[in-house]
Amino acid sequence: REREQLRLERMACVNQLAAGIAHEIRNPLTSIQGFIQLMARRADKPPRREHLEIIITEIGRIDKLISEFQMLARPLKEPVFEKVNICKLLNDIAVLMEGQLHSKSVALTLQLPEVGCYTYGDIAQLKQVFINLLKNAVEAVPHGGNITMAVGKYQGMMVVRVEDNGNGIPPEIIDKLGTPFFTTKETGTGLGLSVCYNIIQNHNGQIKVSSQIGKGSVFTVLLPLAEDECCMLPVNNEQQGFCV
Ligand code: ADP
Ligand code: MG
Repeated sequence: REREQLRLERMACVNQLAAGIAHEIRNPLTSIQGFIQLMARRADKPPRREHLEIIITEIGRIDKLISEFQMLARPLKEPVFEKVNICKLLNDIAVLMEGQLHSKSVALTLQLPEVGCYTYGDIAQLKQVFINLLKNAVEAVPHGGNITMAVGKYQGMMVVRVEDNGNGIPPEIIDKLGTPFFTTKETGTGLGLSVCYNIIQNHNGQIKVSSQIGKGSVFTVLLPLAEDECCMLPVNNEQQGFCV
């Protein structure tokens, strides 16, 4: 009985996601179709540059949606757990994001213990989590903003803080964070945080958010420390379902 209940819940969840992705893809598709039809009608004239640019942007949007959606589904696959030094991982991400940080003159400060800090996890998935959080921070701050990523230990857990001095999050939407497709951005997909919550849940961790409008936001990720043997066991996805 309980199994059946779980199966139904998961089906409802998958249906909801499928409806969401269909809706999100249909919008850009409709506009691409519109502009191509327009061009076909005026085949004697060269296509207008603005129209071509819209088509390229909209195709890019579909591409982004699909890759983020894939990331959302990926944690369902068996993660490959190994010992991960989060400090090294954050350093790698900082290098990876240099271009985006530079183009907005954002100062990124890393506060990392020199001895490193270890958890057991899937490197690729954990990278994705902190890339998504850092991207959101970059998008939230004004030109010349500040972002800090800090690693520490608290009550037997690893704590990673991603802090920004950006626009902040209204209290009434804090509960909606991590719901697939929830976005306040014009070109957002609303999938980044869903991916983060799923992955961190699979790693027996937690994500906490605190924010003040106009002052900034802090995303705190808690993960089991590698000294703790029990964190070597990934959570069973079968029991956990797909929802965030
Ligand atoms: P997207 O970035 O595509 O909008 P996300 O799932 O990454 O999707 O984020 C969902 C929403 O959460 C964002 O649209 C934004 O409103 C809010 N958000 C997330 N991170 C931050 C942040 N650091 N500062 C302010 N708002 C944020
Ligand atoms: Mg995002």
